[in-house]
Amino acid sequence: MKTADVVVIGGGVNGVSTAFNLAKLGAGQVVLVERGELGSGASGKSGALVRMHYTNPYESKLAYESLKIFQNWAEEIGGDCGWEQPGFVEVVAPGHEDELAANVRDQQEIGINTSIVTTAELSELFPEMFVDDIGAAAYEPESGWADPNATTQAFAEAALAHGVEIMTRCEVISILTQDGKVTGVQTTDGRIDTDTVVAAPGIGAGQLLDPLGLDPGLYVQRTKVALYRRPLGFKGSQPVVIDAINDAWLRADTGGLTLIGAESGSLRGDPNDFDQTIDNDYVNHARRVLSARFPIYRAAIMRGGWAGLYMMSPDHRPIIDQPESVAGLYIMAGDSGSSFKTAPAIGKCLAEWVVHGEPQTADLAPFSLSRFDGDNPWMADSNYGRRGRTISR
Ligand SMILES: Cc1cc2nc3c(=O)[nH]c(=O)nc-3n(C[C@H](O)[C@H](O)[C@H](O)COP(=O)(O)OP(=O)(O)OC[C@H]3O[C@@H](n4cnc5c(N)ncnc54)[C@H](O)[C@@H]3O)c2cc1C
Repeated sequence: MKTADVVVIGGGVNGVSTAFNLAKLGAGQVVLVERGELGSGASGKSGALVRMHYTNPYESKLAYESLKIFQNWAEEIGGDCGWEQPGFVEVVAPGHEDELAANVRDQQEIGINTSIVTTAELSELFPEMFVDDIGAAAYEPESGWADPNATTQAFAEAALAHGVEIMTRCEVISILTQDGKVTGVQTTDGRIDTDTVVAAPGIGAGQLLDPLGLDPGLYVQRTKVALYRRPLGFKGSQPVVIDAINDAWLRADTGGLTLIGAESGSLRGDPNDFDQTIDNDYVNHARRVLSARFPIYRAAIMRGGWAGLYMMSPDHRPIIDQPESVAGLYIMAGDSGSSFKTAPAIGKCLAEWVVHGEPQTADLAPFSLSRFDGDNPWMADSNYGRRGRTISR
């Protein structure tokens, strides 16, 4: 039998970020337990867009606090997270101009470098972009993307350097409680006694939280991405784009590639039967969507792709909480396909909560599990006409 001051469940980007921050804040002996390999869940498959634009200020704040860390990675964490800062553009259809402007104003109040740009300005910035169907656009010159595996690895190395013990290929079977308090975790390698558990198990969340009465209806979703060679003659640089008109998100990738997620390819996922590949229909669909925004990709060469699973919460926003009914348990669950960019701040906030008794970097109250108690889902005023309740990625 082992003992630990804190056990972190899950070696995705949120788990390793939390473990690192716990150790940095002096939480004592921290043990991270991962059932596969580090990054083997959603994190390793992430599109890893790092944009500040959300339709609510709370997620924007988490993204903004995280951006500061991505931008100063070597000093803040150490190593290299593959940070690139080509700028980000959110485009919306005619009719959604006012909503976009209101969200941009909220973000500016947080301190985010964002503004509304005209289509003429967009063309000037990004000459290959088709702009004729755009109602309005928001531009964030300081946003970008990172390498999700390098990010996870760098957090893990920093955690190890601060004394965290990382156990891979070890599954937590259950979180143990007595009289409403955490007492440990049962793993495939034995029991670990602890009074504090941070659970960041991605698609494994339902299995661990349901027996504690803490699953609000989480479900698994499958999303695909495809990569294309950027055509010769591409003018200017490739920005990160969330395209609310074509329901897609895209960015450059290393090696002269462009990565796109065309959202109509999203499906309910089966965690026990996970096909990581994409099919030919998706390759053609994603190319069509990519060339609807950047016509030069019309005949672009496909260079790969994959599918990934992540966990949706019922209102498509993460749950980051210390549920009252189980003292000593902290959860980051229902990442909703959008919690890579916020992981540096989420880990920081959770560690502050454990060590100092409350999160200090950002307000986590909107992310509480209790929001599902009543019939009061967290709905944005607008999602620019898209199907989902929040902007994906
Ligand atoms: C294709 C795709 C594109 C995406 N694009 C973006 C994007 O552009 N921007 C963005 O911000 N987000 C994006 N996301 C979402 C983002 O990747 C996830 O929200 C984020 O990686 C979640 O990290 P996590 O650490 O919470 O979970 P995960 O990375 O899923 O990690 C959870 C870990 O817990 C482990 N685990 C589960 N159960 C147990 C158990 N019982 N015991 C021990 N270990 C366990 C798993 O093996 C896994 O490694 C995307 C996701 C996908 C799939």
